[in-house]
Amino acid sequence: MKYTFVINNHLTDNRLKTEHGLCIYLEANNVKILLDTGSSPETLSYNAQILGINLASIDYVFLSHGHRDHTGGLEAVINKNHSVKIIASKRLKNTHFYSERNNQLRDISTPIDLNQLHNQMIWIEDGEEKTINNFIKIFGNSSNIFPKPKANKNLKTKLPDSTEILVDSFEHELIFSVTTDDATLIFTGCCHNGILNILKSANEKGIKNITHIVGGFHLLDPRDGQTFESDDELLKIATFLQKNYPQTKIETCHCTGENAMKFFQQKH
Ligand SMILES: [Zn+2]
Ligand SMILES: [Zn+2]
Repeated sequence: MKYTFVINNHLTDNRLKTEHGLCIYLEANNVKILLDTGSSPETLSYNAQILGINLASIDYVFLSHGHRDHTGGLEAVINKNHSVKIIASKRLKNTHFYSERNNQLRDISTPIDLNQLHNQMIWIEDGEEKTINNFIKIFGNSSNIFPKPKANKNLKTKLPDSTEILVDSFEHELIFSVTTDDATLIFTGCCHNGILNILKSANEKGIKNITHIVGGFHLLDPRDGQTFESDDELLKIATFLQKNYPQTKIETCHCTGENAMKFFQQKH
């Protein structure tokens, strides 16, 4: 198994463009997968070309949740690739998403109408556990015992056939796991359900011996006069991970604040 960051808020390869978004290219048992697509088709096309990734040969695109910083680059793939399969929660159908900042709502919905891609879509129902090629598992969060990221309170949704804007409860967030002879990787998207709930969900699905946890943890630095997780709360998460996943490579990125990052770096 090998994976490469194609889009992230920070990238070490300075030939690449950065943006607020996440996209990872994963190759496992000769299957080529994009885990999310970043915010824009331009960045995805540009970075893929630099990295020598042929978007026309991608087998699957996995969309972790409905936010544009994960779904916005999809057009770059579907324009070049008519056989690619796109995996997403059925809850993304006709649902709108917003981020609230300084009392202003910004639309962060998926820019492409996924209904139009009906032949290419693999929709995941609530509670469904989907297995692909025997070594990839996709499922939703099933644990609510650990706290969820405090910054979720600024994220809103409008359900199909409704005009009401609600605080998002993130049932549309999916978890991706892949197991090969040499590794088991969990991709967490943004961890809107909380990294510890996501790992508990994976455990309930029988996913053991995780070698890699990759994704954003949505533990934001203070901003716009708001503070989110305290140092104490961040330390608790980092300590839990160190104790229960001592051998696991944890590659937290994207929407993990710099303060939170310090705790994970100290612990791993
Ligand atoms: Zn998100
Ligand atoms: Zn994100």
